[in-house]
Parts: sequence; structure tokens; C-alpha cells
Amino acid sequence: MKKNENKKRTLLGIFFLLLLIVLWLTGLIKVWMIIMILAIAVTPLWGRLYCGFICPVATSLNLASLLLDKKRNKNKIGLNSKWVKYLALLIFIAGFVAINKTQFFVPVFILLIPLAFIVVFLFGEAFWHRICPFGTIFGFLARFSKYRYDFLSQTCSRCGLCEKNCKAACLTVGDTLNIDAQECLYCGKCEQVCPENNIIYGKQKA
Ligand code: SF4
Ligand code: SF4
Repeated sequence: MKKNENKKRTLLGIFFLLLLIVLWLTGLIKVWMIIMILAIAVTPLWGRLYCGFICPVATSLNLASLLLDKKRNKNKIGLNSKWVKYLALLIFIAGFVAINKTQFFVPVFILLIPLAFIVVFLFGEAFWHRICPFGTIFGFLARFSKYRYDFLSQTCSRCGLCEKNCKAACLTVGDTLNIDAQECLYCGKCEQVCPENNIIYGKQKA
């Protein structure tokens, strides 16, 4: 991914973050539901584009990344346990139902932003991406995506930059190179840092 594309992606993220805030303040937050539904609908084909280009939580975390301790990304707590994400989804649904029964309605899309910051501060960014309730839904569908980030070749210098920079900790560099399509955020960071241009977003080979 070229630097210009990275800038465009950041600007797009800021646009959607501001759009969410405006929709919230003007009482039109239901419009965001339409965006979500469209994003969910295209995920089995193009993957988690919502996470990579639209998600206001991801944009907020990116904008604040200078303040966050990057070493926390190395925290692997619960990353290999599938039940953690499904438990988090259940808790989220229960909380959502409970909040909707009160008169203090706050949109869940807004609430997720401070919640994400707390989780990232305590457990690291990769852990947040693993338990994000919307991420769990997108991830389930992304397993079938026809387009995804992948390696052009299994032969490279094994410099490890892609693995080090993957915020979702879903890319592994070992005897084989692997990206877990379910957990991949479509952030494009691995493509951006690879000195050999060995990672691209494209159609899966049959
Ligand atoms: S594999 Fe690449 S695109 Fe996917 S989350 Fe990791 S760095 Fe981002
Ligand atoms: S950044 Fe590129 S060259 Fe380095 S290990 Fe990853 S795919 Fe290989």
C-alpha cells in the first residue's frame, strides 16, 4: 500500500468517525445501522472492509496510537481462545438489551469507543480486536471472503516486519506464512511495511 493510499484510508476513517458523531447528535443514528448492514452484506465477498475503512473505533485507536503503549500489542492474553470472543459477544448482547430497557439510551457505536480504549489500555490492542462484538460477526463471515490479504509467495526473507506490525496478531511468519482471514482487520499495515511487496489484497486462488 502506497503512502498516499494510507493517507486516503486515514481520511476516510476520520470522515466516517465524524459522520457517526453527527448522526448521533442529530438523532439519526439509525442511518449507521444501514451502513453496518451493507458492510455485513459485502463481507463474504470482500472481507472485513468495515474494520479496515469505516470502523470509528479502529479510527479512534489509530489516531490515539501515539499515546498507547505499543508493547501492549505483544500481549497474547486470550488470543487463541475462541470462547473469549463468543463470551464477549454474549455479554455485549446482554448489555445492549439492558441499556435499551432504560431511558438512558446511548448508541452502542459510541459506547464502544471508550470501552475499546479501556480494554486496549489493560490488555493490548490485539485483545480488543479479538473480542470486539462487531468484529466477531464480521470475522465469522470473513472466513468465506473471496478477496483478502495474502502472501504472493511463501518465499521471502522472513524479516518479520509484517507480523510485528499486525495489530490483530493474526499474521504469522514461520516455516509458512499465514494470515487468519477471520481475524484480519483489512488494515493493510502488513502490505505497507513489507519491503518485498509480498503481501497484497486480492482474489483468492481457486
Ligand atoms: S494481516 Fe495485515 S491487513 Fe490483516 S490485520 Fe494484520 S496487518 Fe492488518
Ligand atoms: S514483511 Fe514481507 S518479507 Fe518480511 S516476513 Fe513479511 S512477507 Fe516476508
